[in-house]
Amino acid sequence: MAYAYDDQNIFAKILRGEIPNDTVMETEHTLAFNDIGPKAPVHVLVIPKGQYVNYDHFALDASDAEIADFTRTIGAICREAGIQPGEGGGGYRLIANSGEAGVQEVPHMHVHLLAGRPLGRMLQ
Ligand code: AMP
Repeated sequence: MAYAYDDQNIFAKILRGEIPNDTVMETEHTLAFNDIGPKAPVHVLVIPKGQYVNYDHFALDASDAEIADFTRTIGAICREAGIQPGEGGGGYRLIANSGEAGVQEVPHMHVHLLAGRPLGRMLQ
């Protein structure tokens, strides 16, 4: 399947520096920034810099270097924010909304990192 990437999506504009963001961490292949409408005290969006539409696109087509960088960045944010379970933090949740059923609003691959309060059951 060919993935069609819309380079006018809001995260593409953030990556090009056309609109501002509240950066949490930036690496060679990854950008993390605070969600504009936080659903928890910690609500960070982690995105690859490459043009991937959703999680499966990224998982299938990204290079090993991009995937390793993305995953390591999430770990580094957890450590920096002090949210790892068992390390004094209260734990967290990662969410990757993808496509229609996942109710994905922005068609650039991203993961939500949520923490800082009890997050309830996974699906209501
Ligand atoms: P999703 O439904 O998974 O596509 O979530 C997209 C997320 O992007 C939402 O939680 C929005 O609040 C967030 N968002 C949209 N525009 C911006 C922006 N300019 N800066 C930061 N977060 C944004």
